[in-house]
Amino acid sequence: MTDFIDITEALGAYPGIEDANAFASYVKGRNVYKESLYLADGILFMVNKTDPFTKELVAVTAEPHLLAGLTTNTSIHTGRYMMARCPMNVANAYWFMARYKNLGPKSMKDSKVSIGLGDRLGLVTAGHVSSIRKASVFPVFAQQSIRELNLTGRTFKDVLADAFWGAFRAGWREGFGADGDHLKTAEEVRYALDSGFSMITLDCSNHIGLEREGGANAKPPSVRAQVSYRLADGTAVSFSEDEIERCTATYQRAIEFTSSIYHDLLVGCGRKVDFELSIDETGTPTDPKAHYFVAKQLADTGVPLTSLAPRFIGEFQKGIDYIGDIAKFREDFVLHQAIADTFGYKLSVHSGSDKFSIYPSVAELSKGHFHLKTAGTNWLEALRVVLAANPELFGQMYSYAKEHLDEAKAYYKVDVEKESVPDSVDAALFERPDVRQVMHITYGLLLNAKTETGEPLFRTRLYRCLRENEDLLRSTVERHIDNHLKALGLIWS
Ligand SMILES: [Zn+2]
Repeated sequence: MTDFIDITEALGAYPGIEDANAFASYVKGRNVYKESLYLADGILFMVNKTDPFTKELVAVTAEPHLLAGLTTNTSIHTGRYMMARCPMNVANAYWFMARYKNLGPKSMKDSKVSIGLGDRLGLVTAGHVSSIRKASVFPVFAQQSIRELNLTGRTFKDVLADAFWGAFRAGWREGFGADGDHLKTAEEVRYALDSGFSMITLDCSNHIGLEREGGANAKPPSVRAQVSYRLADGTAVSFSEDEIERCTATYQRAIEFTSSIYHDLLVGCGRKVDFELSIDETGTPTDPKAHYFVAKQLADTGVPLTSLAPRFIGEFQKGIDYIGDIAKFREDFVLHQAIADTFGYKLSVHSGSDKFSIYPSVAELSKGHFHLKTAGTNWLEALRVVLAANPELFGQMYSYAKEHLDEAKAYYKVDVEKESVPDSVDAALFERPDVRQVMHITYGLLLNAKTETGEPLFRTRLYRCLRENEDLLRSTVERHIDNHLKALGLIWS
């Protein structure tokens, strides 16, 4: 409260809110985040830190009616202004995004490079902003799958609101993407759209595969055997009768499902929504011919994709570098890229964090036109901060994660056994791929773990630690994303 009163009293002597920069220099040294200052339509907004664990939005205006609809805790009149203290909650985030469309979710159409930055904790967007600012990249600050929502106990609205407030506080004013990731049903797509998301990633793995019922009874495909289809790079692709039969049995249901989701839900939802198709959650790499088969028919039924995620050759395990032959990856990528170029969308690289050895190839072979998804790596960076700031808490979390590894492996496929990882971890051991994977896949178990009396075992202390070490968290995440952007050739030094 003290700081708020200080600001209020200062304001009495202050000439006006119009000069936000002068105001910024005036409040320097207090608990206002200087980069959060935002003057629009006669209201000056700023984010104020009331204690190490709590932030609030402060709105100052000479016309209080402008704040109608914004939930306020208290308001004070001083001189010609009213100052309102407002909670940074979901409702107020949506009030903002409805009023200032430039600050919230928007389509990534026409962007060259875009990056998904899933934030499971809702705490690291400011770090993302610090890094993304250095490059010409479209950021998708809000990106979560239904699995992540279930494991973290959040809703799509929570995710978007957290990303919004993180971006707002850090001074990001250019809008961002919000991706409902790996959605599998019409209900899930509707849920993301109703929550204001700007991107839908449709995972049609439930409809892919020879064993799926009815695959062979799907509509006949528009792709024909013995026809030579030209690709953007001058090469051509053609199919034998057998290949058409196999592709039809495997993919035709998925194509029909994708088409119906697009036409029934995305068309007519009232705004431009980016549409990504994910066919990466399969047991084997996506055959480029199958990719063409899917892409051609979606184009024929009038479904414009923004991006498509094939399963590339090699292993894309969570939070660690690419495992596989880079020369083979390059050959595979070139074939998929030619198809993406033919139909005018980007390739999307899923489980894309920490794949440093292939980033130069992705940037080069896509000619700087791709989408990359990262998620769990941001959680790992948060844990890096816990390890530095509260090693005791980290040690308890690590032991728990190791103990419960097999439960997490039911959700996430990794090649790691609990017998082979160390019993305790320091900063050096934290870099080990197997240790990273243990901590990467157990986030849901760690966040939901309870004491015998039903209290959160780690969650409260984890959030407390990260909020107390906000600056370290921000710089740690910033450095990690910087490393990605450097390897992708998007920032120098
Ligand atoms: Zn995926």
